[in-house]
Amino acid sequence: MSHTLTSAYIGLGANLGDPQARLMWAMDQLAALPQCQPVARSGLYVSAPFEAVGPDFINAVLHLQTTLSAHELLLNLQHIELLAGRERPYRNAPRTLDLDLLLFGDQHIHTATLQVPHPRLWERAFVLLPLAEIAPQWVTADQLSAVAGQPVMRLEPR
Ligand code: AMP
Repeated sequence: MSHTLTSAYIGLGANLGDPQARLMWAMDQLAALPQCQPVARSGLYVSAPFEAVGPDFINAVLHLQTTLSAHELLLNLQHIELLAGRERPYRNAPRTLDLDLLLFGDQHIHTATLQVPHPRLWERAFVLLPLAEIAPQWVTADQLSAVAGQPVMRLEPR
């Protein structure tokens, strides 16, 4: 087990049930994980499904500091997805909760189960905008321009 404290950025998404409540619940679950300390939460962003069908998505990004390894953190993310009752009937199906490890320090990880940085991070406005809100050092103006055509709206707190 590693004892190094690493900054992890986690992308959250949901589009079934009450997605806002689900994301708040998931952020609380993540903040309470062992060996993890919450640092910052982005606002909630709403977008139409991207290469998917169903109701609008709600997305957010959470920054944690952790002494877990990236693979240990992934197992915890998958456990929280299961607790949320996620089913995967087909690719890009509507989902109750999707948790992605976007960044893990400055590590580059390429294993069968884990790709970090997340390979599609820079393609999706609904990930880049909340990430830029809490980690502007990780997102360039050019990267934001590249996704500027994708409609995403930041929700006001309810
Ligand atoms: P998806 O259904 O699109 O959420 O993909 C889940 C699968 O992606 C899991 O089996 C993970 O092992 C794999 N995966 C690879 N890289 C990552 C990552 N950075 N974050 C989350 N899951 C990942």
